Amino acid sequence: MPPVSIQPPPTPLPDERGWFGPYGGQFVPETLMPALAELEQAYRHALADPDFWAELDDLFTHYVGRPTPITYARRLSQHLGGAQIYLKREDLAHSGAHKINNALGQALLVRRMGKRRIVAETGAGQHGVATATAAALLGIECVVYMGTVDMARQRPNVFRMQLLGTEVRGVDSGSKTLKDAINEAIRDWVTNVETTHYLLGSALGPHPYPMMVRDFQRVIGVEARRQMLEQTGRLPDTIVACVGGGSNAIGIFHPFLEDKEVRLIGVEAGGRGIASGEHAARFADPQRARLGVLHGTRSFVMQDEDGQIALTHSISAGLDYASVGPEHAYLRDIGRTEYTYCTDEQALAGFKALCEFEGIIPALESAHAVGYVLTLAPTLPEDHIILINLSGRGDKDLDTVLKATRSASLP
Ligand SMILES: *Cc1c(COP(=O)(O)O)cnc(C)c1O
Repeated sequence: MPPVSIQPPPTPLPDERGWFGPYGGQFVPETLMPALAELEQAYRHALADPDFWAELDDLFTHYVGRPTPITYARRLSQHLGGAQIYLKREDLAHSGAHKINNALGQALLVRRMGKRRIVAETGAGQHGVATATAAALLGIECVVYMGTVDMARQRPNVFRMQLLGTEVRGVDSGSKTLKDAINEAIRDWVTNVETTHYLLGSALGPHPYPMMVRDFQRVIGVEARRQMLEQTGRLPDTIVACVGGGSNAIGIFHPFLEDKEVRLIGVEAGGRGIASGEHAARFADPQRARLGVLHGTRSFVMQDEDGQIALTHSISAGLDYASVGPEHAYLRDIGRTEYTYCTDEQALAGFKALCEFEGIIPALESAHAVGYVLTLAPTLPEDHIILINLSGRGDKDLDTVLKATRSASLP
């Protein structure tokens, strides 16, 4: 198999100020501008350096277990009686999800910048675990901020991070959840910027993060494109991925952007339904999600009438965020990508289907993509190929699923 370079080709977007059309940019206090400038310069050097990508590729191969396979979901496809369904198996990446791709990329960059400390925030703990993993591997000190409410909800992930040598700092302010943890992590970064890198976990935040995280996650789509050509002799007709901040989706979409015949569909968290307001489907609810700024970037943001950030809900913590990566907003505007949503209930149906028909326990985030495909596949002909990005595995979600199915009085 000829080697395929993971070094990203030059891309027109974002522009040099970090804009994807009207989205993105750098909305941060003055004190952070030098740190962002330093990071961007370090990243631009790395971007042009084949040695950087060769080292990352080596870690992907010998540590993460890449390329992750593509699995034909034979029984699920037959059961639904329409399109043929394939799965890109990011659930098989080391530490159980795609997040490790970005964590390792940024950790290598930390070493290049001569820094020795990483700070990160985590909600459900998945990004914290990926960051702690990368930090342990490369021998970098790591502090993860986490709301105390989230710490109580996610004990196993707190323990995982601690086992990996990371210090987990509880955040007791505000709602004691992700957004308060982000504030603390940024405060730490500003204070210790000489020695410290802020390792952001999705295609979000101020420039250069959305570009950088996308470039590290592109490996998913680069592999998938080659694998589908090898396994099926052609490109998929439709690619479906769940969208929280948008990193697994942009990672698989990006290498297919020029293949105009391939439909790219992002699935947001529909929670308890759009009308309930309890969801994180930013593109599906123009009443609640409007152009705004959250955590340094301009994009669609769920907000109330006064412009305060709205509370969101999803059964999957990884999709439960009020904003969405700026590149998705742009790609949607130009009509290259489409977005839909999947409710908690549909995601649970997707979860169950993948368990029972394929012997794969998916992350609840990924189950949103599967849940949508349960309704999409039967409407399509048998020669139509759908590729689902299975972003992670579901071990972390067993408690949630058990509680949800009990309360719905399923067996
Ligand atoms: C965090 C997470 C997501 C959501 O994040 P994106 O940046 O949108 O990919 C999706 N799936 C899994 C398994 C996750 O852990």
